[in-house]
Amino acid sequence: MKFEVTILGSSSATPVFNRNPTAQLLNCNEKIYLIDCGEGTQHQLIRFGLKASKIDAAFISHLHGDHYFGLIGLLSTMHLNGRIKPFRIFGPAPLKEILEMQFKYSDTVLRYEIEFTATTADVPEVIFENGDMTVETIVLNHRIPTTGFKFTEKKRQRKLLSEKLEADQIPVEYYPLLKRGLNLELPGGKLIVNADYTRDSEEPKSYCYCSDTLADGSYLDSLRDCTMLYHEATFLDELLDRANMTHHTTALQAAQIAKTVGAGKLLIGHFSSRYKTLIPLLEEALTVFENTELAIEGNTYAI
Ligand SMILES: [Zn+2]
Ligand SMILES: [Zn+2]
Repeated sequence: MKFEVTILGSSSATPVFNRNPTAQLLNCNEKIYLIDCGEGTQHQLIRFGLKASKIDAAFISHLHGDHYFGLIGLLSTMHLNGRIKPFRIFGPAPLKEILEMQFKYSDTVLRYEIEFTATTADVPEVIFENGDMTVETIVLNHRIPTTGFKFTEKKRQRKLLSEKLEADQIPVEYYPLLKRGLNLELPGGKLIVNADYTRDSEEPKSYCYCSDTLADGSYLDSLRDCTMLYHEATFLDELLDRANMTHHTTALQAAQIAKTVGAGKLLIGHFSSRYKTLIPLLEEALTVFENTELAIEGNTYAI
């Protein structure tokens, strides 16, 4: 199953040095989800040859402009392009009011329905589920109510060992039962032990998205053993005081968190506009957590 994330924006606060405010596109078995939607997201989609019409839902972490100022434009474009498929939005409750007001005063009646689900920054909760994955909020510690999102694949059925099944002439009609892990008794009394004909499917992968937050212990349980952690790393650790004051994280802290929770890999982003080159942020994180990469716009990272 395809499970990958493409970075559309990696900047905090303002667009600068060819970096754009936060936005990511998650592909989970060809269902496409937008995570945050900073200003310029539409331009980034066009630049990287990605289609807005394919996006099924948007997950908005909080109401600082660098995480949602692109949303109204994107929704308007989908309307102008004739979208009729409903669009789901998950985000803080006031976002619904903000969008409705913008549409009201531009006298826009969308051709498609927006299905809005309000998130709360109180306790982690499952907000979305389909056959492929579950999405749970991560309660972050920022200056205004903020949630991250944890996307977890669902466990797949057992894999069939085709050669063995064929060699022993097991009838095809039993395959679905074997995939579900059942032992069988064939007509005539022959016993089929499931483990002889199937193997376990891969362990489900998970992607945790954390932006923006003070690096504290409050949300670490939500991140345990995730396959890939995206964590904001707005500053170098020499600006730790500023990070604490503004409720942001340093690259060093992001790496410490990845190590503490046992993440498989770490992707850092949400870089301050003061950094023209990002290499020092990467180097700082690498001192603590080896499997770290920079979130570079246009790059796609397999989870
Ligand atoms: Zn931000
Ligand atoms: Zn913020």
